[in-house]
Amino acid sequence: MRAVTVPFFISHQGCPHICVFCDQRTISGSDGALPDSGQILSTIDQWRETAGGRPLEVAFFGGTFTALPHDIQASLLEPLQKLLEDRIVQSIRLSTRPDYIDSDRVVWLAGMGVTTIELGVQSMDDAVLAASGRGHSGADSLYALNCIKNAGLTAGAQLMPGLPMDTPISSLDSLERVISAGADFLRIYPTVVLSGTELERKYLSGEFIPLTLDRGVALCAILLQRSMQAGIPVIRTGLQADSGLNSANIVAGCWHPAFGQLVRSRMYSDLIDQAVAPDEYVTLHCHSTRISDLLGMKKYNLRRQAERGVVMQVLSDPDLEREELRVTVKNSSKIYSIITDLHYSIHEV
Ligand code: SF4
Repeated sequence: MRAVTVPFFISHQGCPHICVFCDQRTISGSDGALPDSGQILSTIDQWRETAGGRPLEVAFFGGTFTALPHDIQASLLEPLQKLLEDRIVQSIRLSTRPDYIDSDRVVWLAGMGVTTIELGVQSMDDAVLAASGRGHSGADSLYALNCIKNAGLTAGAQLMPGLPMDTPISSLDSLERVISAGADFLRIYPTVVLSGTELERKYLSGEFIPLTLDRGVALCAILLQRSMQAGIPVIRTGLQADSGLNSANIVAGCWHPAFGQLVRSRMYSDLIDQAVAPDEYVTLHCHSTRISDLLGMKKYNLRRQAERGVVMQVLSDPDLEREELRVTVKNSSKIYSIITDLHYSIHEV
C-alpha cells in the first residue's frame, strides 16, 4: 500500500549558501520556522485521520536538513521514534545538499529511522555548479550518493537543467552520472527565475538566458526517456504549483503548472511524428491512464497532427503497458513504446 506523505518544510534552515536560483521561502511557502515536537505530532495526527489506514511517511523538504545543528536534527527526528516503533509512521525521508552527507551522518540518520535521502545534485558539471553558486562539486554528489547507497538507504537526486553554463549535453551527462552512481529515483526541475534571486539579476542584465518552456519540454522529454530506459523513476518533473510558486514570483524560465503532462504529451507527439506519415487517418490505442497525455493539453496533439494532415482517433486498451502505443493505419497495427521506439538526438534541443 502506497504511503501517505506528511510534509514538513524546513525552508532555508540549515543552509549557509545562497544559490543563484534559490528563494527557498518562495519555493517552500514557509516562513522558515522549524516545527517543535508538539507541532510534529499534531500534524501527523491530522494526516493519520485522513490517511484511511494507509502507512505514513514523514518528509522533511526544503533547506538542508543535515546542515542543521545536530541537536536540532535530533529534535526533529526524536518525536518520530515512538511512532516508528508503533508502526504509525513507516518511514522518514529528507532532502539535503551533497556536501553535508558523509558515512557517519548517514549511519546516524539510518539509526533514527530515515530511509530515503534526496540530494540537491542539480548538475554534475563543476562549471555549472560554480556559475550557480552551489559551493559543492560533482565529486561531492558522487561521494554522497555512495554513502547513502552503502548504508542501504534509498537515494534520490534532484537535477536542474538550464542553470547558468548548462547545455542540453551537460544536463544529459549529469543524468547519466547520477544514474550510474546508483540514484534510485530522480526529480527534474528545469530552472525557473524567481524574483529576488541573483539569477533574476543575471537575467535582467542579460548575463543569463533561461530555457524557454518549449526547449525545456524538449530537453526533459529526452531526460525522461533516458531515465525510463535505465529503469529509474522520475517522481516529479517541474516545480509544483501548490508549493508557494505563482505567476507573481516567477520572472522567467521554464515553468508550467502541468509541466510533467506537457513533457509526456510531447513524447507521444514525437512518437506519432516518427510512426505516422502525413495525411493518414490513424487509430491510436494507449493505456487508459495515458489518454490525456496522448491527446495533449487542451487536445494540442490532435491539432498539431491535424497540421500534418493526420486525423487521430484515440482509444484505450487495458492490455497495453503504460508507455505503449498501438498505431493502426489502414488495417495494419503495430505497438510502439516511448521507451524504446522514440528516437531523440540531444543535439536537436
Ligand atoms: S543549498 Fe538549497 S536551500 Fe541552500 S541556497 Fe541552495 S537551493 Fe537554497
